[in-house]
Amino acid sequence: MSNTKILLDESELPTHWYNVIADLPTPPAPYLGADGQPVSPEQLGAIFPPGLLEQEISTQRWIEIPEKVRSILRLWRPSPLYRARRLEAILGTPAKIYYKYEGGSPAGSHKPNSAVAQAYYNKIAGIKRLTTETGAGQWGSAISLAGNMFGLEVRVYMVKVSYEQKPFRRSMIQTWGGEVLPSPTTLTAAGRQALENDPNCQGSLGIAISEAVEEAASRQDTNYTLGSVLNHVLLHQTVIGLETRKQLEKVGDYPDVIFAPCGGGSNVGGMMFPFLADKAAGKEIRLVAVEPSSCPTLTRGEYAYDYGDSVGLTPLIQMYTLGHDFMPPGIHAGGLRYHGDSALVSQLYHEGVLEAIAVPQLATFESGVMFSKAEGIVPAPESNHAIHAAIDEALRCKERSEGKTILFTLSGHGHFDMASYDRYFSGELTDQAYPEEALQAALRNLPQVK
Ligand SMILES: *Cc1c(COP(=O)(O)O)cnc(C)c1O
Repeated sequence: MSNTKILLDESELPTHWYNVIADLPTPPAPYLGADGQPVSPEQLGAIFPPGLLEQEISTQRWIEIPEKVRSILRLWRPSPLYRARRLEAILGTPAKIYYKYEGGSPAGSHKPNSAVAQAYYNKIAGIKRLTTETGAGQWGSAISLAGNMFGLEVRVYMVKVSYEQKPFRRSMIQTWGGEVLPSPTTLTAAGRQALENDPNCQGSLGIAISEAVEEAASRQDTNYTLGSVLNHVLLHQTVIGLETRKQLEKVGDYPDVIFAPCGGGSNVGGMMFPFLADKAAGKEIRLVAVEPSSCPTLTRGEYAYDYGDSVGLTPLIQMYTLGHDFMPPGIHAGGLRYHGDSALVSQLYHEGVLEAIAVPQLATFESGVMFSKAEGIVPAPESNHAIHAAIDEALRCKERSEGKTILFTLSGHGHFDMASYDRYFSGELTDQAYPEEALQAALRNLPQVK
């Protein structure tokens, strides 16, 4: 059998990122300050470098990837596209299944694609230190890797419960020279406040974001970095979809449907945006974001202005949200436990261009294990969401004898998530749908925008 692994040459690494804002029928809604007025670039300049702020609002369709960034991306890119022939055979489906594998990066996921670019633009702006937060540890390790490559100090506020549960992500951050602290800390006002409220506070992504933003805003030499949600992060991730298009061209194929796991929306945007122009031109292609039923931002959230963190330090973003004080159940796909979603993904979903589905945790592990047995790779629990949706679609194709082409992003490997697999194997994992009352309660606290 041929074409199991479809590779590109190093010289085929994209030279430009694709900026979807150039092709949106309606311009994105501006970020707003607490006063209800659009935030100025100067205000955001306290925590982000000019290069990234330009990208955040740019309407230029193609943005050149600096050679210094490309030379680092080349360590693991172009990433392989696989045809899942063994999985197809096991399912007995007439559908073709392709997956783009992002787990070959040093940190094991797609996140370094943006981390490297973010470190670069901070470096050329004269910044010496970066702060960030991390939940499951994927972003913290990616930015630690990238900061080290550009000689920047990195401080990661890691949600305390993950700090204790995921010691190896912590070691990885330290291996690349990053400093990792269990959040809440006593170093910031936000952390001290959280500890005053509850001395045993286990932390949350919202508190960790507040700590990282507060530190970056208070120091000239320090900026803040975010691993998803923002427009520039999705822009950097478009290398995924651009490469995939070329790889499919090589084998003369084109997807009927694309699935990607959705947390803050960066691998959804990264994979799907480069296919949007074809859809706009009349090509039949379905683009489906897959989220956990326990954190159903797109499928059950509200399209409204909300804060990006729980304390309310960030600007207001128009997005699908479950409410900034939404507390997701402790599911094992830590990277998908965010109350909001990228403004661009939200807008395109609102306009009916992207679709979304929510899937329960147990089914995602079941599909992930089936995938590992067929294809070998052990996927991150986040990636299992896309795998589950792809398998479901392939089985529907079997019922209807349809030979569709299915594509999904395998956003990362699960080598640091084996404790979650252990819990699945021992029958300790459960499905937790988010209760309607709790959802309504969190939505009642959405900020009022004048
Ligand atoms: C962070 C993460 C995700 C979710 O983040 P997005 O910004 O929605 O892409 C998915 N998969 C893996 C492996 C991750 O680390």
